[in-house]
Amino acid sequence: MSVAKGLFDGDILNEHLFPYPRLRDKDREVLGMMVDAIDQFLQPRQQDFRRWDRESAQPAEFIQGLRELGLFGLIIPEELGGLGLSNGGYARVLCQTSMHDSSVSLTIGAHSSIGMKGLLLFGTPAQKARYLPRLAGGELIAAFCLTESGAGSDAASIRSSASRNADGSWTLNGEKIWITNGGIAGLYTVFARTESPDGKITAFIVEAAWPGVSHGAHEDKMGIRASSTTTVHFKDVVVPADNVLDAEGKGFKVAMAILNNGRTGLGGGAVGGMKSLIGLATRQALARRQFGRPIAEFGLIRKKLAQMAIDCYAAESAVWMVAHHVDSGYEDYSVEAAISKIFASEAMQRTAHEALQIAAGAGFMRDLPYEQIVRDARILSIFEGTNEVLRLYVAFSGMKEHGKSLGELKTAMDAIFNHPIKGFGVLGEYAEKRLTHATGVGRGKIQVRVPANLADAAAIYEKYTLELAKASDFLLRKHGSAITDRQQEVERLADIAVDLFVGLCVLSRSIALSSMPGGAGEQAVLIARVFAQQAKRRMAMNVRRIMRNEDEEMNRLAGFLLSGEAYPWDVMS
Ligand SMILES: Cc1cc2nc3c(=O)[nH]c(=O)nc-3n(C[C@H](O)[C@H](O)[C@H](O)COP(=O)(O)OP(=O)(O)OC[C@H]3O[C@@H](n4cnc5c(N)ncnc54)[C@H](O)[C@@H]3O)c2cc1C
Repeated sequence: MSVAKGLFDGDILNEHLFPYPRLRDKDREVLGMMVDAIDQFLQPRQQDFRRWDRESAQPAEFIQGLRELGLFGLIIPEELGGLGLSNGGYARVLCQTSMHDSSVSLTIGAHSSIGMKGLLLFGTPAQKARYLPRLAGGELIAAFCLTESGAGSDAASIRSSASRNADGSWTLNGEKIWITNGGIAGLYTVFARTESPDGKITAFIVEAAWPGVSHGAHEDKMGIRASSTTTVHFKDVVVPADNVLDAEGKGFKVAMAILNNGRTGLGGGAVGGMKSLIGLATRQALARRQFGRPIAEFGLIRKKLAQMAIDCYAAESAVWMVAHHVDSGYEDYSVEAAISKIFASEAMQRTAHEALQIAAGAGFMRDLPYEQIVRDARILSIFEGTNEVLRLYVAFSGMKEHGKSLGELKTAMDAIFNHPIKGFGVLGEYAEKRLTHATGVGRGKIQVRVPANLADAAAIYEKYTLELAKASDFLLRKHGSAITDRQQEVERLADIAVDLFVGLCVLSRSIALSSMPGGAGEQAVLIARVFAQQAKRRMAMNVRRIMRNEDEEMNRLAGFLLSGEAYPWDVMS
């Protein structure tokens, strides 16, 4: 049962959203020690991070320090040498490392979130015993090799291939690009097309030391420059039969499961970046005086600071809700994970942009960390699924659930004359759902006790859950299967779903925190109230624009530009 998919059907799955989850006691214990140790190790290296960004390198002795802190074994079970943190505990560690430097988080994150996650999720006991202890200590660092020059978002179109040898082993050939940790990894999770009749993809565990495996030079990037990004080449690499992950032909499923499960790591990192920016920006606003006053007194600066806190709190609420779903063994959390990645990555980019604006000219100079943070944050909406593709994923997955009821309706119509009772049963169920949407009475309700000062916020989410269901119903009926070509319309549904899911997480958390002492509880309620109003304005606009928009004109204009490959107007003409 997916909360986000339920929203497309007009349902609010209360039992999966309330009460807001707490991190497990065992995680808190480990995190208590870990967070201090991370700060002690990373805090004194602020100048080094700036230098390594310019030099585009992370020294080997520094990576050794990460190993000694246990940062490569965060999610590996204790019996195999790791710390056994949950998904939520792991995201909290990446939050802490990101408060100091994004490249550090990326080195750790690419290893755990995606590099060796396949072994954890799909490895056999023998595969786990062989590799996880070495991965836990960082003796082996892991990388995830999916992207190729012709296959980015369309990952299913990869051309790397593996053919089976007579003894059951495989010979792997191909070239992967932009692989994080590519230059320092000892183990790669590699995706290649195997010679099954339908040319399906298979996932392999490949050791960097094997003959035929090599990597290219460190890429010269815009941001996260110290983190290793390289091409990785596989030339006639012989991979033993028992290094296949899961089963032959199941590689695409493996890749998607890894990416879905790993998204909270990226989200946790984004939250850490925002927390650190809020600290920097508040100190800057208090210290900088203009017009005889600290700029912190100006409304336009205060508005930015408040919005940063709202964005950070909202992203944090969504990321740890998703982590809780993963840790609780829910199977269907991919849409929520995509939503948390979309929201957290964009919230971090907004926050970085605004923090730099508060520091203004000083923020533009390389002496201060803002410009590096802005550059580092840019990747967040590109990798682990671009936000465009994730928005399509969110909306199509939600609509698919909804479309099932429409499919059932059609079958019921067909069947009604042949098998009236069965036909009426399904039709009755569908009619009931339509009635629910029309009257607003049904499962789209928040059933927990909501404090009076959050009642308005709760009513907003109830109303727009219904609106989302009606809008998906409307678009599906209007376009049928041609909906896949109506991306601008689909994006609006995704944006409503993002606001609804994130908003419900915020509401749930603020209900839980409302009695916190020292003003924090009161401010948490205030954040939930403001977020709900902001979300309402965005959702209302998206609903309106489903009915009235300029999509056709925009498509025509894009077509015109594409045909000339340039901007044709000039004040001289
Ligand atoms: C620093 C860095 C580190 C990376 N690390 C790794 C790694 O460790 N392992 C790995 O395998 N990969 C890695 N990648 C690759 C990354 O995952 C891809 O860049 C990403 O999946 C997008 O692919 P692309 O860049 O080829 O963009 P494209 O797929 O070419 O997309 C170009 C644009 O078109 C949009 N677009 C694409 N398809 C659609 C569609 N159907 N509808 C609407 N819009 C669409 C995209 O959103 C984007 O805006 C890394 C990339 C970078 C830059």
